[in-house]
Amino acid sequence: MEVKSQQYPELARKILRQTPQVREAVTRAALHFDHNRQTAYAEIDAAFWRQWAEAVKNHVLTHLDHYLELAEQRLAARGVRVHWAETAEDARRVLRELVRAHGVKRAVKAKSMLSEELGVNPALEALGVEVFETDLGEYIIQLAGEPPSHIVGPAIHRNLEEIRRLFHERLGTPLDAEPDALAREARRVLREAFLSAEMGVSGANFLVAETGTIALIENEGNIRLTTSLPKVHVALVGIEKLLPSLADLAVFLQLTARAATGQRIGTFVSLIQGPRTEAEPDGPEEVHVVLVDNGRSALLADPEAWEVLRCVRCGACLNACPVYRQTGGHAYGWVYSGPIGAVLDPGLLGLEATLPLPFASSLCGACFEVCPVRIPIPKLLVTWRQRAVAAGLASRPEAGAVRAYAEVMTRPELYRLFSKALRVFPGALEHPVLPVVRAWRAGRSGLKPSPKSFRELWEEGAV
Ligand code: SF4
Repeated sequence: MEVKSQQYPELARKILRQTPQVREAVTRAALHFDHNRQTAYAEIDAAFWRQWAEAVKNHVLTHLDHYLELAEQRLAARGVRVHWAETAEDARRVLRELVRAHGVKRAVKAKSMLSEELGVNPALEALGVEVFETDLGEYIIQLAGEPPSHIVGPAIHRNLEEIRRLFHERLGTPLDAEPDALAREARRVLREAFLSAEMGVSGANFLVAETGTIALIENEGNIRLTTSLPKVHVALVGIEKLLPSLADLAVFLQLTARAATGQRIGTFVSLIQGPRTEAEPDGPEEVHVVLVDNGRSALLADPEAWEVLRCVRCGACLNACPVYRQTGGHAYGWVYSGPIGAVLDPGLLGLEATLPLPFASSLCGACFEVCPVRIPIPKLLVTWRQRAVAAGLASRPEAGAVRAYAEVMTRPELYRLFSKALRVFPGALEHPVLPVVRAWRAGRSGLKPSPKSFRELWEEGAV
């Protein structure tokens, strides 16, 4: 997927001005998810669960070499073929080889953010493979030719009218078709794809090292079909997705579902341990696991930024984020959007390619409060901002404004003088040499200095 993160301000502006319905649809869906999460967290000792989950992920990440080797061993023992992909191109190469070896003409795909990151669809399509997204939300945006805008709800930015029009144009359903009828039509198309595809591609929510178990959570049943009907199943797994044991998995499945959609557990949980045996009538003949690095090892070695790798891609931080709710995910210009995108994208793609993203936050802290693995997103945002300033990449006027602010705030005399001057010339803050303040002012009522300073009020005994 092309990286357009540098265009964040323009993309956000365009979405806000040209498609106001996106804001409405995203806010409605995000608030709904967030409300459900609150209810689901209230049923458990969420603070304790989150601390425990943080500790487990920290343990895995700090012993990743051990757990990766263990997982490889256990997978291989069950007949799974394990591939290592250092880069996105390595992962695509594995897919290409499998497509050629099995004469794949059709592939069905379960929702996977990693596959978006790796550019799986264009790679398969370039080989002449017809690819079907099988998650309903993903299928909708595939028909629309768009990337997902939310980790859990890829099509939440689209309202019913738009989906009706899209299905009408692409699948010939009536313009006033009810949601049930639209889902039925999608099911009809996808059923045919499930039965004829030679390859099924999935991601993995977790990979359990002690047993070599791939765990997948879903609500529609499409992942189950994707991973069991075609004769070849390929699971793309980021190396950070490991868990030590099945006992850990039992809790992570519940915590992830609660954080993502407010469910106690996903409607379907698939635990895949290998290709079908001779005694089993169903299942793929071959299972391949591609363990993908693609920048994760380098990020893990970064002492200030590695914690982002705890992410379980639940999307809770997106739902809680007042900034994300304005535009949805497309403004962020790459696969991972919202608060997690603002700290993961610079880690995977580099700061230069993603620069405005760490600044696309009010630092309100809501993302940290909801994160099931307690990723300190606000702290990481500040880290990336500091790096941008240190590298001379941040906006010069903004850096200058912050320096001037620090000067004034750390010198009492200067501060007093400045606040007096502001009371005499209240319009000074909107002077064109202060573009940051002007930008902040756009859409808000004007800045009006108080007639008396706090110090004066204090001395008068008024406060
Ligand atoms: S950062 Fe936390 S809340 Fe956001 S998607 Fe990842 S795990 Fe979920």
